[in-house]
Amino acid sequence: MPEIPYSSNYKHTRVFKKKSSKSYSKPEHAKLYYSRRWKRLRQMFIRYNPLCKDCKDSDIIKEGQVVDHIKPVSEDLDGFYVWKNLQTLCRTCHAKKTAKEVNKRIKERKNNNNI
Ligand SMILES: [Zn+2]
Repeated sequence: MPEIPYSSNYKHTRVFKKKSSKSYSKPEHAKLYYSRRWKRLRQMFIRYNPLCKDCKDSDIIKEGQVVDHIKPVSEDLDGFYVWKNLQTLCRTCHAKKTAKEVNKRIKERKNNNNI
């Protein structure tokens, strides 16, 4: 029986998808969210900190669903697994924070372009 080069070809097409470093593909940290280490850390964190931090600051008791990085990992990847860099947010607060960060980044980009 002739050998079917299925597996090697398969591997080849699956694994070697070259991306240029300056493409608009997913940022480096995006894949860390799929790691087992993050999932475990996230689960543990939300168990210890079940309430939304921003809501709590406004005296509202609300359950949070999102474990957020206080310092965005897009700025500092080292803080990804750092407990002190985490906070629990509800979806509303997380959306607000994300919008703020995006706006900030757009502003910064505009400023850089003006120079
Ligand atoms: Zn909230």
